[in-house]
Amino acid sequence: MHPIMREHITLIDAGPSSMRFYCCHRAEVVTYAIDEVGGRAVSLADGRRALGDILKQLDKQDLTHSDLEAFFRGLIDDNIFRDAASDSNVEFGPNYEARLKRQLVYFSGLAPAGRTGRDIQDSLLRSRVLIVGAGGGGSHMAVQLAGVGVGNLTIVDHDRVEIGNLGRQIFYAGRVGELKVEVLKSVIENISPETAVTTHVEKLTRDAEWLGEILPKVDLVINCADYPSMDETSRWLFDACYPRKIPLIPAGGYNGHMTSVPPTLIPGNSTCWHCYEKTTAKKVSPFGKLKLSEMKSGVFLPATVAMAALQMPEIVRVLTGCEAPRFINRRGEFDLNTCALRVEEVPPTPGCRTCEGTA
Ligand SMILES: [Zn+2]
Repeated sequence: MHPIMREHITLIDAGPSSMRFYCCHRAEVVTYAIDEVGGRAVSLADGRRALGDILKQLDKQDLTHSDLEAFFRGLIDDNIFRDAASDSNVEFGPNYEARLKRQLVYFSGLAPAGRTGRDIQDSLLRSRVLIVGAGGGGSHMAVQLAGVGVGNLTIVDHDRVEIGNLGRQIFYAGRVGELKVEVLKSVIENISPETAVTTHVEKLTRDAEWLGEILPKVDLVINCADYPSMDETSRWLFDACYPRKIPLIPAGGYNGHMTSVPPTLIPGNSTCWHCYEKTTAKKVSPFGKLKLSEMKSGVFLPATVAMAALQMPEIVRVLTGCEAPRFINRRGEFDLNTCALRVEEVPPTPGCRTCEGTA
């Protein structure tokens, strides 16, 4: 064992009888009762020294190797320390490393025991994500995915940039008339040269043939296509992803200062899109016969940015497995005016073979 403090942990002090650590991930102070030897042991644990070396330097007759191992094992189990001897030694290119230095510290807090922040980042770098739709939601989503260091993005859209897009699709400024996927690709090349971008000029339809070629090459699909509606495109994509066991995150649905956080769809492990639609359709519309799609709805730019930001932690959870996804069987709605997030349960339907993954 080569113990070392995790990157997101700060030692506040190591007094004669206690030591205190600040954990930035949980925003809390953790206190341990120790003696003077414990404080010295912590200061010697730099990830290069093995336990035997630390023991030798402590020079305490009554302290055994197994005592010291138990001491550090407790700190490792609490995610305050990690064992550098079992690290996977992931290496990144120098620019990628330098750019994502602070995110690596954040991911250290996210990493479960036995994994490091670098492992989480490496999982993102190896991930392959398909974004369908490069409009208001999709453009912010693609840029944020590249920003957090996802290694492979496939973007599908058939539209060209129009002046009316620029109020919420800010990355397309000065590129009116060009294909959105091509402009987005050039934007991402500047943000994250390590992200390989594949573009397809295609329209999403119920039985789009191009899906059959792309889906086997991706780990996750993010739906940002809202024509003819988010419900319809999510239904089409769910039906294509489900037999291939590919997770789908619908990411759209904003209206004024409200943005929705649809449920994460993991085939066989969550409510299916069809049951989700039935659950939401059961609610009585306050607008009588007027459909949502028939209503005039303004869009406030921050709602599109918030939508991508609210989904990003869930996307990282699904791609890296650092934690269990939190929006399985749940959906949310975020109000930018009040900062209130309303979350409701959307459970699988008992007996639905699609929800159960047996269809
Ligand atoms: Zn179902």
